[in-house]
Amino acid sequence: MTVNTESRSFGNYIGGKWVVSASGNTEASINPADRNEIVGYCQMSGKEDLDRAVASAQGAALAWRKLSAPARGDFLFKAANILESRLNDIAETMTREMGKTLPEARGETARGVAILRYYAGEGLRKNGDVIPSTDPDGLMFTTRAPLGVVGLITPWNFPVAIPIWKIAPALIYGNTIVFKPAQNTAITAAKIIECFAAAGLPDGVLNLVTGSGSVIGQGIIDHPDIAGISFTGSDGVGKRVALGAVARGAKYQLEMGGKNPVIVCDDADLDLAVDATISGGLKSTGQKCTCTSRVIVMSGVYESFKEKLLHKVRQIKVGPGMSSDTWMGPCASESQMQTVLSYIEKGTAEGATLFHGGERVQGEGFQQGFYVQPTLFENVKPEMVIAQEEIFGPVLALLKVDTLEEALEVANGSRYGLSASVFTRDIGSAMTFIREMNAGLVRINAESAGVELQAPFGGMKQSSSGSREQGQAAIEFYTSIKTVFMKA
Ligand code: NAD
Repeated sequence: MTVNTESRSFGNYIGGKWVVSASGNTEASINPADRNEIVGYCQMSGKEDLDRAVASAQGAALAWRKLSAPARGDFLFKAANILESRLNDIAETMTREMGKTLPEARGETARGVAILRYYAGEGLRKNGDVIPSTDPDGLMFTTRAPLGVVGLITPWNFPVAIPIWKIAPALIYGNTIVFKPAQNTAITAAKIIECFAAAGLPDGVLNLVTGSGSVIGQGIIDHPDIAGISFTGSDGVGKRVALGAVARGAKYQLEMGGKNPVIVCDDADLDLAVDATISGGLKSTGQKCTCTSRVIVMSGVYESFKEKLLHKVRQIKVGPGMSSDTWMGPCASESQMQTVLSYIEKGTAEGATLFHGGERVQGEGFQQGFYVQPTLFENVKPEMVIAQEEIFGPVLALLKVDTLEEALEVANGSRYGLSASVFTRDIGSAMTFIREMNAGLVRINAESAGVELQAPFGGMKQSSSGSREQGQAAIEFYTSIKTVFMKA
């Protein structure tokens, strides 16, 4: 039986109007907790729609950049209030579209509100410096110029927070936007845009075009009138963004994957380390770029850590994100579930020991959803596929080591470098970890995760490229420095 929770079909938002795609094609958004539930329909746009959106953003660019930054901030404050008033509805849509639990979806939407308020305030802060000149009659200073039209390409795993942490700085620093969300969270994206529309944002400043990565995403990469691209997603697509942007001289910023390690030292608070490993690794069904996926445990505490971990993981309640007793929801899509299951097969084939989970969740109420059990592997070798590739699912790999030096070698033996944690009571070990760990987000006695919205977010190696997102760091991507020298 097919159930429609939304009677609505969502359009593109171009030039201040909700419009259907010129292609005439729409796509159903499916609930991953129950494939029979259609959440709503969104546009499968074509190149023509993208061209219209870019033209509309270009048309709005001059007036928007001429508006004062505090005045631009007023729109963000209004959008924040509207998003806050719609928080429950938007969180429920997110849970229905991609499966994360309702408390997580509410928390993420609240973060979206806070990000908007932060960047609204950013419109009142300084954006340049006065630099001493050797000319006594001269005045030398820097100011910031917006890029123009920016293209924002986002993934499905944080369908509110990631779009907003790009949209808000893009707007406050004076850019206009063409936004392309992941197609399986396009309805959540449309509901965010409705908040900006209700805030009275001038027509054309923020445009939404939904559709496939290969048509709309690639179209943004190639479009000659898009001056900068901010991308979050897989490193495979990120490389396409970088190559395409360099080829036509556009600016780019990439936030990509992670294979985030946690090191548990012999002197760690084991209960804290276990709780943080579970929360950092299995919240959001392991579908966070900062998720713990490699658990590197010193031999002295390995067995007791493993027993405690297993005990807690056995208690995890898997179910639909809308149920109040669910701790972990389904994978976000059927293809994501198949990817996770294929990595579990690879792990077993490579000789790692599966000691918990490893299968689809069976039983009544689960057959129509994309559920995978929380899964634990041990006897994992650092070079194995499950210790090297991003799985993006509820799978933890345990690796045993004897020293912090060995732990760091394993932790750094990855092409990624996003988030990393150590659990220790020894300040010397913590200092060594801070110094030696090659990751953009380094955490002591705290789960591998992102960071508060006012601090820079990003990684090293193949996790990120270009300047950081979040906080005041965002100004580096969304503006160019103009150095001014003037004399009367
Ligand atoms: P994805 O790379 O498949 O898709 C991301 C976006 O790119 C989507 O909007 C998609 O439609 C678009 N896209 C796909 N093909 C494209 C193409 N050829 N040209 C241009 N755009 C294209 O990633 P996903 O599956 O949506 O998200 C999961 C990935 O995102 C994981 O690798 C995860 O680590 C990463 N991620 C990173 C961060 C971070 O901040 N580092 C945050 C969240 C997610």
